[in-house]
Amino acid sequence: MNIHEFQAKQLLARYTIPVPRGRRADTVAEAVAIANELAAPITVVKAQIHAGGRGKAGGVKLAKSRDQVEPLAREILGKTLVTPQTGPQGKVVKKLLIEEGVSIGHEFYLSLVVDRASASIAVIASREGGMEIEEVAATHPDKIVKVFIDPTVGYQPFHGRRVAFALGLPKDVVNAFVKLLGSLYTMFTAQDASLVEINPLVLTTDQRLIALDAKMNFDDNGLFRHEDVRAFRDLDEEEPLEIRASEHNLNYVKLDGTIGCMVNGAGLAMATMDVVKLAGGSPANFLDVGGGATKETVKEAFGILMADPNVRGVFVNIFGGIVRCERIAGGIIDATREVHLSVPLVVRLDGTNAEEGKKMLASSGLNLEVANTMWEGAQRIVALSGKGPA
Ligand code: ADP
Ligand code: MG
Repeated sequence: MNIHEFQAKQLLARYTIPVPRGRRADTVAEAVAIANELAAPITVVKAQIHAGGRGKAGGVKLAKSRDQVEPLAREILGKTLVTPQTGPQGKVVKKLLIEEGVSIGHEFYLSLVVDRASASIAVIASREGGMEIEEVAATHPDKIVKVFIDPTVGYQPFHGRRVAFALGLPKDVVNAFVKLLGSLYTMFTAQDASLVEINPLVLTTDQRLIALDAKMNFDDNGLFRHEDVRAFRDLDEEEPLEIRASEHNLNYVKLDGTIGCMVNGAGLAMATMDVVKLAGGSPANFLDVGGGATKETVKEAFGILMADPNVRGVFVNIFGGIVRCERIAGGIIDATREVHLSVPLVVRLDGTNAEEGKKMLASSGLNLEVANTMWEGAQRIVALSGKGPA
């Protein structure tokens, strides 16, 4: 789960990591009221969306006098920001963060991430802060420092000193940095985060370290024990079809292709997407209806697939293990009658009671094709729905 910058900064502050004074605003009037309350020489108006790269897209603006706050808030609120992380359709700004402007001496990059390869928590840092780290990694990989923290030992001050020296921090702030990184590590592990990125972490002209931006990602499997983090969930920022799917325990991820895929089991779902690609098509989604799929799950899954206007064909690929194919066939027959399927449908059933399921489909009188193998099914659905983009 992702959270907003203003929420991430609340968490950082709880763990004693310095952040600028500021609060969230939902309206222009609130933005002005907060700016007056802050009474800072410079006020910063920041779009709150679940994506980075806002500055370059015009979503972060500095007001040098307080009467500029109102027009800036008016400009950014409701604007559609297109950044490398939003996709081409962009994201509408519904919330702002109004905070004090900080006098920047230098911008650093600092992040913590779960590193599966080394089974540790990696600290990634760079003197080249402010800009996207992917860009630094591509052009100046030597300017990125990595220090791995073994979670069984935990954070030790030497980790902090190693990063501080690599960043070339002035001697006077090394201790402050060692403490800051320790607090960040404590927060990371205590809150079951999977990523915490501070870009930039700034050294102010008066030699203080402040987190100017914050992006956090949490392990969904740990959310049950973090009520406070769960409260940060913002459904405005999530894909509506994914929310609907999660309400029905369906694992659904929307993609930008045209072939809707309905599959049981995550591995088979991945393989199905590969095979659709191999056949020259592109999947509109990843959808795992789960091992215990019922008629109702299948109906709901059809509803979700058909709600995506890009879908030009549906490929159902089911392997009956625990789930029985005749039940799935029943679900498909019911669902296509109810949902009124306006696009071609190809079904491949294999495993438990597959023959019975196929017979039911063939005699249903519905406009669908039954495929004998996954490869045949993928080729048929691509042929029936056309290859071009939607
Ligand atoms: P994004 O990464 O989405 O572009 P940031 O929060 O990193 O958004 O803001 C972009 C840039 O704006 C920062 O690198 C920094 O230079 C400047 N900035 C952001 N917040 C402040 C602030 N409170 N005071 C001064 N400058 C700021
Ligand atoms: Mg940033």
